Amino acid sequence: MTVVSKAGMQWKNWAGTVKSRPSRIVFPESVDDVVGIVKQCVEQGLRIRAVGSGHSFTRLVQTDECLISLDRLQGLASVDPEKGIVEVWAGTKLKALGDQLCSHGLSQENLGDINAQSIAGAVSTGTHGTGIRFGSLSTQVVGLTIVTAAGEVLNCSTESHPSLFPALQVSLGLLGVIVKVRLRVIPLLKLRYESMRLSVETCLDQLDTWRTENRHFEFFLFPYSRLVQAKRMNETAEPPSPHLRWNHFKQLVLENGFFWLLSESCRLFPSLCPSVSRLSAKAVPSVSGAGLSHRLFATPRLVRFHEMEYSVPADRMKEVVEEIQEAIERHRFAVHFPIECRYVKKDDIWLSPAYERDSAYIAVHMYKGMPYQAYFSCIEEIFWKHEGRPHWGKMHGMDIAGLHKAYPRLGDFLAVREKWDPHNLFANDYLAQLFGIAPDSPQR
Ligand SMILES: Cc1cc2nc3c(=O)[nH]c(=O)nc-3n(C[C@H](O)[C@H](O)[C@H](O)COP(=O)(O)OP(=O)(O)OC[C@H]3O[C@@H](n4cnc5c(N)ncnc54)[C@H](O)[C@@H]3O)c2cc1C
Repeated sequence: MTVVSKAGMQWKNWAGTVKSRPSRIVFPESVDDVVGIVKQCVEQGLRIRAVGSGHSFTRLVQTDECLISLDRLQGLASVDPEKGIVEVWAGTKLKALGDQLCSHGLSQENLGDINAQSIAGAVSTGTHGTGIRFGSLSTQVVGLTIVTAAGEVLNCSTESHPSLFPALQVSLGLLGVIVKVRLRVIPLLKLRYESMRLSVETCLDQLDTWRTENRHFEFFLFPYSRLVQAKRMNETAEPPSPHLRWNHFKQLVLENGFFWLLSESCRLFPSLCPSVSRLSAKAVPSVSGAGLSHRLFATPRLVRFHEMEYSVPADRMKEVVEEIQEAIERHRFAVHFPIECRYVKKDDIWLSPAYERDSAYIAVHMYKGMPYQAYFSCIEEIFWKHEGRPHWGKMHGMDIAGLHKAYPRLGDFLAVREKWDPHNLFANDYLAQLFGIAPDSPQR
């Protein structure tokens, strides 16, 4: 068994806001390695947390016990183009997955706005993109291979484990270590994208049309401005636009470099936020082009921030966005980051924020180093008023009672967790507190 173990090394998430010093960080190179690690940790009374790319804002991964990374288990394990099913090692990063699928003439039907996450990490929190006809990445999963707390290797699907699978599709690392993911894929997808500047009224008054007539539609609302950036993408047979690389370069330099400079100005002089936000809105370019979907979904994000995101019923998008806009102006919050608004199709996954309802996902951000608590708390109350469900990977302040109300199947999830991990091997202090799980089991 080859296991690299790094003791005493600090781990931190992408935003640099969650840190820990695990007593052991392990990088298994095979499924047998994972089984060995699980058994060893049980013997030694150590709890285990799995990490993907560390892109969650919440303390999901934080542990001072054993941290397991599947970075050495990456790539496609098998491809069945006829059935449209691929099997992917759990540590595979979405960017690499997109490129490898492309070389087989395949694509994922939808993706989020970055591609740095691991497939297991993305699925485990219900990571989503936009498009009312498409569910989150978890809905693309048709099977999972996990190593359970008992050290068993289990191949799970709806057919084989009907009561475990809907819990596993979004499981926050609580049900075992995912080692392989079986995904439903589609033939290589080319998209035409358009980004445009619109007035808030034009955008909000035509939301039904925008969201139903486009394969993918999202918009960014700029605080203190009457403008939004709307983006839509639709299938095309056009060849990739030659200026795509140039656009990517511009995104890196302008959207990230220039935006970082503006953000630093706002951090030092918060009263600049409204003007900076209005300036950013006016700078929204009108661009269009065509390209391979996995390249178009993702945009580089180099400026670090805090983020909170909730899903609300899809029909409430306009109402909620207007209330957020009004609250920002009333409280004069120092915020210049745009509010990201997307749509996701309903699913039947127990911990999915889109469980049994078509959803509008609304995300608020704050530049790292600027106070976010008052802003997030105020906006969170708006989400709560509209039956909001928090994204598990993003910041939120919902307590256990609120979570049970928002997630009607949370009780079922916790019962399944109790059954498969009775000694809380895969819990950490954060999740124990969030879900009322005993912090440490006397049986271990
Ligand atoms: C810049 C940025 C942009 C983002 N954009 C989006 C977006 O467009 N849409 C969206 O929905 N979210 C988005 N997110 C949130 C992000 O997609 C999720 O938090 C996702 O879970 C992160 O994936 P990861 O690989 O980094 O997982 P981590 O954050 O490392 O882990 C997430 C969870 O997965 C579990 N896990 C990881 N690997 C395994 C495994 N092998 N077995 C069992 N459990 C495992 C962890 O224990 C943890 O509970 C964004 C985050 C950032 C920082």
